[in-house]
Amino acid sequence: MHIAFQSQCPARMDAPQWRFSMLEAYRQHVAEREAEGVPPLPLDAQQTAELVELLKNPPAGEEDTLLELIKNQIPPGVDDASKVKAEFLGQVAKGSVACSLIDRAEATRLLGTMIGGYNVKPLVDLLDDAELAAGAVEALSVTLLVYDGFEEVAAKAKSNASARQVMENWANATWFTSRPEMPEEVTVTVFKVEGETNTDDLSPASEAWSRPDIPMHAKAMLVARMPDALDKLAQLKSKGYPVAYVGDVVGTGSSRKSAANSVIWHTGSDIPYVPAKRTGGVVIGGTIAPIFFNTAEDSGMLPIQCDVTGMNTGDVITINTKTGEITRDGAVLSTFELKPNTLADEVRAGGRVNLIIGRKLTTQARDALGLGPIKLFTDPEQPADSGKGYTLAQKMVGKAVGKVGVRPGEYCEPKMTTVGSQDTTGPMTRDEIKELACLKYTADFTVQSFCHTAAYPKSVDIKTHNTLGQFFEDRGGVALRVGDGVIHSWLNRFCLPDTVGTGGDSHTRFPIGISFPAGSGLVAFAAATGSMPLVMPESVLVRFKGELQPGITLRDVVNVIPWAAIQQGLLTVEKKGKKNIFAGRVLEIEGLPNLKVEQAFELADASAERSAAACTVHLDKAPVIEYISSNVVLIKNMLKRGYGHRETLQARIEAMQAWLANPVLLQPDADAEYAKIIEIDLSEIKEPVVCCPNDPDDVKLLSEVAGNPVDEVFLGSCMTNIGHFRAAAKVLDGQPQVPGRMWVAPPTRMDEQQLIDEGVYSIFGKAGARMEMPGCSLCMGNQARVRDNSVVFSTSTRNFDNRLGKGAQVYLGSAELAAVTAMMGKLPTVAEYLAISKDRIDPFAADLYRYLNFHEIENYENNGVIPIHAA
Ligand code: SF4
Repeated sequence: MHIAFQSQCPARMDAPQWRFSMLEAYRQHVAEREAEGVPPLPLDAQQTAELVELLKNPPAGEEDTLLELIKNQIPPGVDDASKVKAEFLGQVAKGSVACSLIDRAEATRLLGTMIGGYNVKPLVDLLDDAELAAGAVEALSVTLLVYDGFEEVAAKAKSNASARQVMENWANATWFTSRPEMPEEVTVTVFKVEGETNTDDLSPASEAWSRPDIPMHAKAMLVARMPDALDKLAQLKSKGYPVAYVGDVVGTGSSRKSAANSVIWHTGSDIPYVPAKRTGGVVIGGTIAPIFFNTAEDSGMLPIQCDVTGMNTGDVITINTKTGEITRDGAVLSTFELKPNTLADEVRAGGRVNLIIGRKLTTQARDALGLGPIKLFTDPEQPADSGKGYTLAQKMVGKAVGKVGVRPGEYCEPKMTTVGSQDTTGPMTRDEIKELACLKYTADFTVQSFCHTAAYPKSVDIKTHNTLGQFFEDRGGVALRVGDGVIHSWLNRFCLPDTVGTGGDSHTRFPIGISFPAGSGLVAFAAATGSMPLVMPESVLVRFKGELQPGITLRDVVNVIPWAAIQQGLLTVEKKGKKNIFAGRVLEIEGLPNLKVEQAFELADASAERSAAACTVHLDKAPVIEYISSNVVLIKNMLKRGYGHRETLQARIEAMQAWLANPVLLQPDADAEYAKIIEIDLSEIKEPVVCCPNDPDDVKLLSEVAGNPVDEVFLGSCMTNIGHFRAAAKVLDGQPQVPGRMWVAPPTRMDEQQLIDEGVYSIFGKAGARMEMPGCSLCMGNQARVRDNSVVFSTSTRNFDNRLGKGAQVYLGSAELAAVTAMMGKLPTVAEYLAISKDRIDPFAADLYRYLNFHEIENYENNGVIPIHAA
């Protein structure tokens, strides 16, 4: 922490009371936070404005405090508070405002600590000031987020030597060379968490509200998994070395950056002039989940994958980053290879994001000065071209970088056509966007949803609901509304075929095109810059053949993928030495070309549970044309209902219409190369397949678990679509009430309205089900929860320990099986299930499994109901 702020108020009364009110309130806040064991929150714009007034006329005795606050307690970038700070420092530097505590040179220096955004303009102006130009040169030379400021400096450089110097410094990468190289040896104390740590262990969903408050949220790290973890960390730190987080499998599960933030908070170091955030740290894993790995890279952390079996908590180990050896007391414990080969540069730059932005700035400056490429950075290793064909994913990414295809292992920066953000990671994404000094998105289409917190909001959620949408719209993004429903069920409807995108939620898996979900830092980068760094993963092809058997649903097809992988020895349930053929690869699915896009998403969505980096589903043109036609009408309806950002929505309509005018889809090449091909004959799947408590990889046939009692059933999440609700209702129609508790949450408002109109809600009501607002509902378990230690059958995505409820044992499977289970209060036998399916579902299948084709609903564009309770 930078600030040793006195929590005792000196209570000086020799200046007007109002001047102290901000300080008094702030001291009170500091004391409250101290009691919680966390540093104070950064100052907001109002507090900063009051601080500025105090700095103009400093009360005696408060000088150090005021300086400390202006230097270290205001977020950098384009936060509203940093705008106030930059304006004030700019005025002091120019001499238009006097401050006895900060002279013109110091004001210039402090402007240089603000990373970019609002500080750039005053610094560029100061290049014309003979007295301060040298300071401005120094400041700008290490400022990366200059955006339009680059053109201004380049223009000034024609007649201004200082501006020319800035250009030369950018061209020579002073921003990089002025930072220390990654140390050859790093000595750390091991904090080891045995087995697998998922992101929910590190950043529990139940504490999602505190994610933007990094120090506060970090208090919840491992709270359920290892209640004494923070005490242990404190003890280990007392050995005098930084602590390294070590685990067999680290960071599986969701993409939440808060998981990495918490690890970095406990293992990293303060960032000069940036409040309540840290950087650096070391994470060592037998396996590190790809999104977690990338998030670590982006944050300046050193992630190492190697055998960790010889490492134990309390070991003091030395990591040699040159030889790739980890030693304890001089003996080699493990060896590793620094991967990617750019990692040393990333660590030196303060993270991969800084490195990418900085390298672009350097290239831009060299181009402007007519200089050739710089020989300073390590270029990403690129694979040899095999000359073979490309997979569908490789072609989609190729298209996004202007090539026919990209090879596995190839580093590229694909154009981000669609970017999604949800509400528990959105506030972090917002903070990252501010830190990237972004005032306008470059990505074509960026969306914010409110699906995770709409139903039972805390007061902090209400604040997010009231402000985050506007923040996105101000930058050209699209804001959904509270109660609209689940991010993916909406985001998919905004996708363009064969394009690439991302989202700050691990289930951002487009059914058309391809999405590489990411942590909120990378999502902010993608939205701000319109591209994303990517090392193209290898692909695993799952090829289906044969006919789907009666009673077997698409969810069973989803679950049969890990089941088949287990049978073939490509996936193990055991965490130690875990095998997972899908981990970090692109799961490509073919053999089901006639699926509707809504159905294809069920397959794509579940690729998150396989720890796949992304997923493609090879579809025919007809369902894609149908889906896009429907979505054009939905977006037109949104425009009629006042959704923004209008130009962004309109542009997406036009892009969709352009595709519809020439509906061509990319095709995988017959000789494309895959890391593995898994063939699955659907005709051999004769019974439902379920994931068992509490691991989405622990897949079993229904006959292996039939008869097990179930207390609660959840029907909902992004894994469901309207057909599932109709089918489940059909099972329950006319039957006695369900014996246990049943929760029903449709994914979107449109589904809700349609189901109400069709009388489906009435059936659920009579069955005794509890109807929930459209959204994530129980799936994330951050709001309503199932009863402690209950046995649950759920249609949601994942069943990690404690996700749906404390101690809950959760089966995952189809909506149809969920309804039968709810009705019987236990998992049925295969015969019971098939009999019900045969009588109540199969004869009505054509009517049940219909999807929301808005273009086929009369006058939907003008009158179609997106029921807006809040409008
Ligand atoms: S429904 Fe579940 S998996 Fe889907 S976005 Fe919401 S919390 Fe995530």
